[in-house]
Amino acid sequence: MTTDYKRYMVTAALPYANGPKHVGHLAGAYLPADVYVRYLRQQGKNVIFVSGSDEHGTAIPNQALKENTTPQTIIDKYHVLIRDCLAKLGVSFDIYHRTSEPIHHQTSQEIFLTLYKKGLLTEETSEQYFDEEANAFLADRYIIGTCPKCGHTNAYGDQCEKCGSTLSPKELINPRSTLSGKPPVLKPTKHWYLPLQQYEPWLKEWILESHKNDWKPNVYGQCKSWIDAGLQPRAMTRDLDWGIKVPLPHTEGKVLYVWFDAPIGYISATRALFKELSEGKKEFATPRSAFSNPQVDDWKPYWQHTDTKLVHFIGKDNIVFHCLIFPIMLHASGEYIVPANVPANEFMNLEGDKMSTSRGWSIEMHEYLEDFPTKPDELRYTLLTNLPETKDSEFTWKDFQAKNNNELVAIFGNFVNRALVLTQKHFENRVPVADTWQEVDRKVIDELKLFPERIAESIKAYRFREATAYLIDLARLGNKYLTETEPWKLAKTDLPRVGAVLNLALQIAANLSIVAEPFLPFTSKKLSEVLNFSSKNWSDAGNPSLLKANHQLGEAKLLFEKMEDEVIENQLKKLNDKKKGMELAATPAEPAKPEVSFDEFSKMDIRIAKILKAERVEKSKKLLKLQVDTGMDVRTVMSGIAEYFTPEEMIGKQVTILVNLAPRKIMGVESQGMILMASDKDGKLRMLQPSEAVAQGSKVS
Ligand SMILES: [Zn+2]
Repeated sequence: MTTDYKRYMVTAALPYANGPKHVGHLAGAYLPADVYVRYLRQQGKNVIFVSGSDEHGTAIPNQALKENTTPQTIIDKYHVLIRDCLAKLGVSFDIYHRTSEPIHHQTSQEIFLTLYKKGLLTEETSEQYFDEEANAFLADRYIIGTCPKCGHTNAYGDQCEKCGSTLSPKELINPRSTLSGKPPVLKPTKHWYLPLQQYEPWLKEWILESHKNDWKPNVYGQCKSWIDAGLQPRAMTRDLDWGIKVPLPHTEGKVLYVWFDAPIGYISATRALFKELSEGKKEFATPRSAFSNPQVDDWKPYWQHTDTKLVHFIGKDNIVFHCLIFPIMLHASGEYIVPANVPANEFMNLEGDKMSTSRGWSIEMHEYLEDFPTKPDELRYTLLTNLPETKDSEFTWKDFQAKNNNELVAIFGNFVNRALVLTQKHFENRVPVADTWQEVDRKVIDELKLFPERIAESIKAYRFREATAYLIDLARLGNKYLTETEPWKLAKTDLPRVGAVLNLALQIAANLSIVAEPFLPFTSKKLSEVLNFSSKNWSDAGNPSLLKANHQLGEAKLLFEKMEDEVIENQLKKLNDKKKGMELAATPAEPAKPEVSFDEFSKMDIRIAKILKAERVEKSKKLLKLQVDTGMDVRTVMSGIAEYFTPEEMIGKQVTILVNLAPRKIMGVESQGMILMASDKDGKLRMLQPSEAVAQGSKVS
């Protein structure tokens, strides 16, 4: 196997543009890919990094139904949201494309036709559910019925969300169409299948033999179990009106299967990139020699030449598509290369539970950016130190705070700040001269020289957690060096020695500005400004004399800020509130009571009153005995609210009260009226109060 690659083609999973994406997605594919690509660029490698929105599949029209809008509105909204969030978090795609673009439709249809013309697709007719009223075949998600496993009455054709079982539409009891609400009928329909089983020998040789040692065990293991279980033909077309039209005659209402077209999105993104480059519509932020005179067909070597290293960064749920189905398509077409590696990650959990946007248990990228707009690197760092590389990992807000305060602030930030402040104080903000090195300095220099290679080896082996740990170790080396040499104590007695120590400390800081770039690009840039030092070339790192003596430094600024407990507590509260809100929103409200006339309603005398006294009632968990000022009188009301309110918190509050309810004895006390409360779907009570204080006895009507 060749390891001497001429160019790199790096892809990160195409997110479905059907909703916001959370930080678990970031940890799964985008961050590791970005670290890898930024490192390659610093090495001066010829690398292209692409991703984009997956805008087909039933997920899109489904979301449109939920939001009561069109599929086009959905993809336009979420494409922009996801693209902008990834950019703000520093994910440095060369292009973030979308599968709704004509060039992608064209590329997908070309590849489908290549396979079709080579006779590699088989035609099969099967019976599928059809909605006669809507005149449409029904995708799995458009059929609901009773789950055969748990009896849930609203299970989908592909999955029961109550018990989590994977289903097929024909398993549902009493199926009905979500389009018309009517039971669907079975009707024959023709589709084109890719006979995956025919490629088993090739997959065994390519993956099971050739990549046994260089693919991650989690990825290799999943591929092996799929191949060992035996592959089945898989339909590459669907009956749906949203997607890429099947490029064959008499195929009205049929589109390419979303997993056929989505990964082709990487190819069409690369095509679109070179089209834009060749037309002068796009330029790379940093000039790269490989693209000095780009032509429209220059995308081809990246996908068709065997001296290209193709790497797909994905989450584990996409392994089968990126390691088996897409490579089979590429290989079968006869024109394309297959991936050299697919370093898929496992999942990142959140505070002890699975991350899930639909359940509200998630930190969406846009939510993080709203609350921490100036802290993209703080999130990158916490995620990188916790990447689910070999098994599921976990994000907690406490850990986020600890990583920020104990590592970024106390080690990285503190080291750089101490070196800068002392240089400003004693050397007019210029790099001091270092005359001689002592033993302690030489040891640090020897250590420093090892770091770039150490970090690079980890990145090349897709061990980004380890690489991030080495990065902070380099800052730790600098911090420890200052703690040991204590230059602040020597200023009065031995200024030349202070100069030597600060010189070396600043050299370490300059090295940090280079090797931190893949991980903490915003901090790396800030550090470069502070040091007035711009190189990002990886080959410069490991050098103890990057900054010349007397080099003028820039203006000092803090790289990181301490995060207070309150900030973290707020985030935890926000998370719990969001989950609660989602649960309540998912529970339907009780149906309305029978109609009443206006006369009947106006018999109710509802007022605003103030609670004067409140006390618990002996032998009752539920009751509070209240003294209430109704503006007309002061009366006693027995109220069943003790499980939700303490007597102390009721006193002095304005509440809503039905004053003309017939009195009745409760626990031996006559209750004269009823306090009205809002009751949640879970029965929890909340006070109904005027939005600002009003006179006691004010009418509610
Ligand atoms: Zn079920």
